[in-house]
Amino acid sequence: MKMPSTLFTLAARHVFPVEGGPIADASVSVADGRIVRVGVAAEGPAVDLDLGNAAIVPGFVNAHTHLDLGPIAPANGDGPEDEVDWLRRVVEGRRAGRPGDGAEASRRNVLASVRAGTTLIADTTFGGQSWDAVAEAPLRGVVFSELIGLNRLRGLETSGSAFEWLAKHPLDPDDPDPTTRAGLSPHAPYSTAGWLYHRAATSKRPLSTHLAEMPEETELLEHKTGRLRTFLEDLGAWDDGWDPIGPRPADYIRRGDLRQADWIVAHGNYIDPSEFWQFRPEAAPDGQRVAVAYCPRTHARFGHAPHPYRAMLDRGIVVCLGTDSLASAPSLSILDEIRALRRLDPSASGELLLTMATLFGAWALRSDDLTGSLKPGKSADLAVVALPDRDEADPYTLLLESDLPVVATMFRGEFVHGPRA
Ligand SMILES: [Zn+2]
Repeated sequence: MKMPSTLFTLAARHVFPVEGGPIADASVSVADGRIVRVGVAAEGPAVDLDLGNAAIVPGFVNAHTHLDLGPIAPANGDGPEDEVDWLRRVVEGRRAGRPGDGAEASRRNVLASVRAGTTLIADTTFGGQSWDAVAEAPLRGVVFSELIGLNRLRGLETSGSAFEWLAKHPLDPDDPDPTTRAGLSPHAPYSTAGWLYHRAATSKRPLSTHLAEMPEETELLEHKTGRLRTFLEDLGAWDDGWDPIGPRPADYIRRGDLRQADWIVAHGNYIDPSEFWQFRPEAAPDGQRVAVAYCPRTHARFGHAPHPYRAMLDRGIVVCLGTDSLASAPSLSILDEIRALRRLDPSASGELLLTMATLFGAWALRSDDLTGSLKPGKSADLAVVALPDRDEADPYTLLLESDLPVVATMFRGEFVHGPRA
C-alpha cells in the first residue's frame, strides 16, 4: 500500500524566491513544514492548489514594531507631525491606559500581522506584555522587553522587572527552532541611562534600541539641551546627573561590552555617513549582527530628512524594515511599507525592496538559515499576494505598484490565514 504523502504543491503566476530571480508559472512544494522544491510548475510535482493570478513570496519579516500600542490619529492630517509632541501623546495614552490594555492590543495586532503575511516579528514591548500573544500566534517572534529611565530609581525598576521576565523565558540551547525568543530593549539614548544599555548587554540576548531617530536626540547627546530635555523635565523624567554613553549614536552599540551583542537599530534616520562603518557586520568583533530597521511610513509621518538607507546598503550595512507601531503607522504590513517606499523612490529595485522585507530581517534576527527566502530546506513560511490583471516587463511591478492584499499566509507548511486556515 502506498504511504500517504505529505507533499503539497502550490502554484501561482509568479514566485519570488528572493534568493534567485522571479519565476513565472511557478510552484512551491512543501513537505513536513519545509520547502522541498521551487521552480516552474510544469516541471514539478502535481499541483494541489493553484492560486492563479497571485505571487508567492517569503513570509515578511517585521523587524521593528510595538504590538502593545494602539492607533494615534495624525495631528496634522497628511502634513508632517512634530515627533516630540507625538511622544507626549504616546506617554499620555500609556499613563491613561488600564492594566491589560497592552496585552489585549498585542493579541489583536499579532493576528493582524499574520494576516499581513508576516511570519517573523521583532516586537518591543513594555514589561514583556506581548509575550503570550506572540508565543500563541502562528509565527516566529523575538520579544524585546523595554528598559527605560534616565534617573537611577526608574532605571532600577524597569531593569529589575525586565531581567525577572527574561529569567522566565530562557533560551533552550537544544532547540534549533524556538518559535519565540526573549530579548531586551533599552528604549533610546534620550530616555535610557547608559548603565541600562551596558546591563542589557550582559544578558547575552538579542537587543534592540531606537537610535538617531530625530535631530532633537543628537542635540541632547551633544549639548544636553533642546526640546527633548524640556519634554523629559515636564514628565519628571529628567536627571541632572545624566551623561550620555557618548555624543554619537554609534557609541550606544559600539562602546566596550555593547559590541558583544546583536542589535536591531530602529530608525537610524540621522546616522551620519562618517559613522556608517561602525554599523557594518565587519565592525563586530565576533560575528555579532547589527542591522538598521528602517520604518518608512513612520519616517514619512514625522517629515524627517530623507532616510540614508540606500547609502547604508551601498556601504554594506544590513537595512531591514519595520512598521513601528499603529501609533505612527496606518497598518502592520511590511508589504504596505515596501509599496510606500517604492512610491517614494520609484528607482528602488523590486528585488532590493523584497529582500529588505524578508531575508535581511531574517538575518538580523538570526533566522536566515530557517526563513527569509523560498529555498529547499527552509521552513515553509510564505505569503500569497493577489496580483493585478495586467502585464509588466518587471514582475516586481505587479507586486509593488498595486494595492491588492495578502490573501494567504503559510507558516511551517500550514495555512494560518487564507484558503485553508
Ligand atoms: Zn519604535
